Amino acid sequence: LQALTLSLPDEDATTALAERLAPLLSGQVPGVPTGGRIHLHGDLGAGKTHFVRALLRACGVTGRIKSPSYALLESYKVSSLYFYHLDFYRFSDPREWVDAGFRDILQDNAVVLIEWPEKAGDLLPEPDLDLHLDYCGDGRLATLDARSAKGTLWITTLAP
Ligand code: ADP
Ligand code: MG
Repeated sequence: LQALTLSLPDEDATTALAERLAPLLSGQVPGVPTGGRIHLHGDLGAGKTHFVRALLRACGVTGRIKSPSYALLESYKVSSLYFYHLDFYRFSDPREWVDAGFRDILQDNAVVLIEWPEKAGDLLPEPDLDLHLDYCGDGRLATLDARSAKGTLWITTLAP
């Protein structure tokens, strides 16, 4: 299974999807290697940050979860697992990226969640999963596209 489309009628449904993905990313499902990368696509207000917050919470992140739209990057650690939340909405200068050493971050065996990855051009490696959130009436339509064997494993596990 390479792709999955899910209807998310309200924000609780977005939260529920994040809560189903969380154990797969944080090493709580036997046979699924810990960590992974998700690229989040969708217009402003589609629910990308909402999804990331719900996922981080479900993985045990406590305290304030800030949107990284200004800082580019917010990072968290739970036990020995690192989480990186990036938002490239305001990204303009690739040197920012190099200066911050983000390349190293992406090579780690971590959970990496990236909003507006398309604004980073070709600086980013392929994710395990592309998650698209599209407006659909009052709710959203989620499209999950697997980009790696791990992503395929996630989708297969999530499929109804
Ligand atoms: P983005 O990061 O994509 O710009 P945000 O996550 O900041 O968007 O904001 C999304 C808004 O949409 C939040 O107010 C959230 O409650 C709401 N939302 C999230 N998922 C859904 C959904 N499935 N249906 C309706 N509203 C949603
Ligand atoms: Mg956002």
